[in-house]
Amino acid sequence: MGQKRKKLCTVCKSKGIRKEGVIYMPEHRLSLCEEHFNEWFEKRVKEAIKEFKMFDKREKILVAVSGGKDSQVLWYVLNKLGYDTDAFFIHLGIGDYSDESMEKVLALGELIGKKPHIVRLEEEVGAGLPVLQNYVRGTACSVCGRIKRYHFNKVARELGYNVVATGHNLDDEASSLLANLINWNLKYLARKYPVLREEKGFPRKVKPLVKHTERVIKFYADLNGIPYTDRSCPLGDTANLHFYKEVMEEIENHALGTKYRFYFEYLKKVFPIFSALKEEWVEGELTTCKVCGEPSPSEVCFVCRLKERVKKDRTQSG
Ligand SMILES: [Zn+2]
Ligand SMILES: [Zn+2]
Repeated sequence: MGQKRKKLCTVCKSKGIRKEGVIYMPEHRLSLCEEHFNEWFEKRVKEAIKEFKMFDKREKILVAVSGGKDSQVLWYVLNKLGYDTDAFFIHLGIGDYSDESMEKVLALGELIGKKPHIVRLEEEVGAGLPVLQNYVRGTACSVCGRIKRYHFNKVARELGYNVVATGHNLDDEASSLLANLINWNLKYLARKYPVLREEKGFPRKVKPLVKHTERVIKFYADLNGIPYTDRSCPLGDTANLHFYKEVMEEIENHALGTKYRFYFEYLKKVFPIFSALKEEWVEGELTTCKVCGEPSPSEVCFVCRLKERVKKDRTQSG
């Protein structure tokens, strides 16, 4: 990956300056020095925000951070670009994995002078994810996803944020598009877009890093000294996800630029057709949870049912 021979920075060269690049991105045919890489990276984030009309500087944005490189970079870069952002972290109660992730979030907060909002599952729901996953069917990841979504929505509304931003990158989006196309998962495809408008009591959801690959995001994090954890969740079964990422990477290596084209041409050419049929594919009406008041497909929402289970178990064993 560009280590063979250092290339000169393309931008510097255009100004008649000979300066070695610190990264070479073959998919863009671009070699950039430190300064021009940062400039380029941030410009593309701004472009994605504008192109998909994600938000503007008057809006309050809640960044969902996990302590991993993508969401940490997202919080850092939005803050640097002058957007009104705060971070929200859910401590999942997964031993030192959760502790270390939280430390990285707090460290970044210190770096940029902001205090993240933190929710601890053990306090909020009564138990951490390792216990909660036993109460329901489905993988730890799907349970975790539902719990996270619930809290993002709730915290955003309670604290007055109308936008929730997540750190999904181009590799995440292209590989999940591939997986969902192969399985003709229409319900998912109808909502596969970098912006989901606010609806039915939910805040707007945005993915400002969709134009960047994992490699580039990691490079930006390291270059700018952004703290993040490299560990992946010990409960996560990500084999399937990795498989599609590898397949995508293989296609990319075969024809540079395919990953980008695959995803963005989908958004332009196919998504409008699928999204027009959304009503037919997306699940039925939502009602309001009679315990917590959050939007829910059932009378009592998923999280309130979990809380109930934890409480019941505790009284029985206590
Ligand atoms: Zn340069
Ligand atoms: Zn509820």
